[in-house]
Amino acid sequence: MGAIPSESIEQIAAANDIVEVIGSYFPLKRAGANFKALCPFHQEKTPSFHVSPQRQTFHCFGCGVGGSVFRFVMDYEHIDFPSAVRKLAARVGIPVIEERGPSGAEDRQVEARRVLLQLHGEAAAWFHENLIKRELAEPARKYLKQRGITAEIAKRWQVGYAPDEWDAFGSWARGRGYDVRDLISSGLIKSKDDADGMPSQKSYDRFRGRIMFPICNDVGEVIAFSGRMLQNEAEGAKYLNSPETPLFRKGSVLFGLNKTKRALIEANCAIVCEGQLDLIRAVSRGSASERFDCACC
Ligand SMILES: [Zn+2]
Repeated sequence: MGAIPSESIEQIAAANDIVEVIGSYFPLKRAGANFKALCPFHQEKTPSFHVSPQRQTFHCFGCGVGGSVFRFVMDYEHIDFPSAVRKLAARVGIPVIEERGPSGAEDRQVEARRVLLQLHGEAAAWFHENLIKRELAEPARKYLKQRGITAEIAKRWQVGYAPDEWDAFGSWARGRGYDVRDLISSGLIKSKDDADGMPSQKSYDRFRGRIMFPICNDVGEVIAFSGRMLQNEAEGAKYLNSPETPLFRKGSVLFGLNKTKRALIEANCAIVCEGQLDLIRAVSRGSASERFDCACC
């Protein structure tokens, strides 16, 4: 990865008001010119965690933590500086252009990664739109409703639907200008070999007739998908995941961790579910003290 230019970092800081950012994690109370809350970094009964909109900083008089909006996101999310920058950039829709390294190979890698990330983000939006708007997704909508997934929950998790066709996704993606080689490297389409074994430009969609769950990295970028078969009686695996790609290494990502990490840290305990729907339902039902019927445990 290249370095993020300092002008971009300044622009991202300017666009992310610290009160709004911290206020999106937990409620802040106005106290004169500042805001305060119970400190998330140590146990306390009276609030000593202060946020200053003028200085765009936070400071805890109890445990001494403090700094800029980037520091807060790094400490709260347990992520490194570049990840915090990318996360805050994504929050306000600023593209992060990383400075090119000296080597051409590195340039190509960075560029390939950028294309794959963009493709995954757009694909997740397309699958979601299929689920919400298109006639062909009616059985998927019915199934999700049965499983307790409302439209609002589907939106929050960007649940989608891949049409039961061989080239629905591929033709959409080519129409958006994506190169077939990039599509194959994303794992979202597969190449079809000719009879003589030579690879050709022919390809087909990996995910067909499946409910699509975007798998995100720590900063919430879509890096892969898991597709659940809609018809239980049909042939094939019930769950199908993206293959390993330059973005996705199996075994190093847990579905939903980007949305649940903070709660896990606070509770110092985790419940692992087998299926994506089990996890989404558990998280949607709220705290562990609420009753939850899990299909797997
Ligand atoms: Zn503190």
